[in-house]
Amino acid sequence: MFILDPNDEVPKSFHADLTGAPMTNCVLCNCEFEEFTDYLVEKSFKRVNSGVVHTLFEYAICLECVPTMQGRMSKESQENITKYFESKVDISSRFSQQFEENQFNTDKWINHCLITKKPTDELQEFQIYGQFKGNRLVYGAFPYAISGQILDEMIGLLSAKSLEEMNGFKDQIISPDPTLKELFPTNRPPILI
Ligand SMILES: [Zn+2]
Repeated sequence: MFILDPNDEVPKSFHADLTGAPMTNCVLCNCEFEEFTDYLVEKSFKRVNSGVVHTLFEYAICLECVPTMQGRMSKESQENITKYFESKVDISSRFSQQFEENQFNTDKWINHCLITKKPTDELQEFQIYGQFKGNRLVYGAFPYAISGQILDEMIGLLSAKSLEEMNGFKDQIISPDPTLKELFPTNRPPILI
């Protein structure tokens, strides 16, 4: 079940910090996004003591490349993540509820952790995920936010080898401010769910 956003505009929350505009290319195959290209966007945030929220990394990946990225994890690690996720959230009832309450108000879909429900305003670290077709957000399993706490639980389910592979991918993705990489080193790789 999914519904395409009637607005033909990527919501600001999913813009690239680097350019202040929607992302334009796949991080893996570098294809350019056209009107009907399907892709995912992931952005990782960190709140510092002053309350300012920094973007640690951001990237977009076309759906054709998603299996390649996931293939860097072992089958067992992938299954562990899927099982964990499915045990924590019922995506289709969450979709119905969100859609009824918030329709196309993207920020309301992503202002709390999908699993703990904690508001992102109160989170030190969180990531947001969205699926797009061209400029249009696809409301379905996405969009959502996940807290750092839950991401760490999921990373704990990966084998050492899978974690190493996913961390290798991290070097390919974009950090809007490279100095942040040094300020906030993280062993948390991007994880597509
Ligand atoms: Zn691609």
